[in-house]
Amino acid sequence: MMTVGVLALQGAFLEHEQRLAQLGVHSAELRCAADLQQPLDGIILPGGESTAIGKLLRELDMLTPLQEMIRSGLPVFGTCAGLLLLAEHIENDSRRHLATMSITACRNAYGRQLGSFFTHADFAGEGEIPMTFIRAPYISAVGSDTQILATVDGRIVAARQGNQLVTAFHPELNADLTAHRYFVRMIIDKIAK
Ligand code: GLN
Repeated sequence: MMTVGVLALQGAFLEHEQRLAQLGVHSAELRCAADLQQPLDGIILPGGESTAIGKLLRELDMLTPLQEMIRSGLPVFGTCAGLLLLAEHIENDSRRHLATMSITACRNAYGRQLGSFFTHADFAGEGEIPMTFIRAPYISAVGSDTQILATVDGRIVAARQGNQLVTAFHPELNADLTAHRYFVRMIIDKIAK
């Protein structure tokens, strides 16, 4: 049985666990470095506050082991703050966290008023899905081996590089399972290799 670790330090991790359960996938909450020792098939980094999560990752000695797991190819799905944790570059923040993915993110990019909004857009050619944005970043540039999976108003809001998947929106806050199913397929493809 597949187990996906869900980083459970802060933010919207419970909703990710619910979505995984709906897909019949077992989840394990990751709260300390010891939780990273168990066999995991993938990891979800939830939305929340990237500064707070990044600080906790350092304090709990989880940053380096997580970085190593991701660099060695463990599938990872970062949503919103999780996207910021994975970004190699953040335009308007001097902090970097895991920095494993060749994307440039723009933090709190939609300004205060437009911080939160809801829309529908195509995701990875799978049709339109609901997208909830909460003080969201967007991706302003991607590396040459990074695939753009979704755009809203000309801005990149989902991307994939190898086994790393990110969305600027919160797919766990809507009933639609497309993005989580896509991530589970990434894991299955990796296991099959
Ligand atoms: N604004 C948050 C940050 O900078 C991200 C918001 C979210 O995850 N919903 O980390």
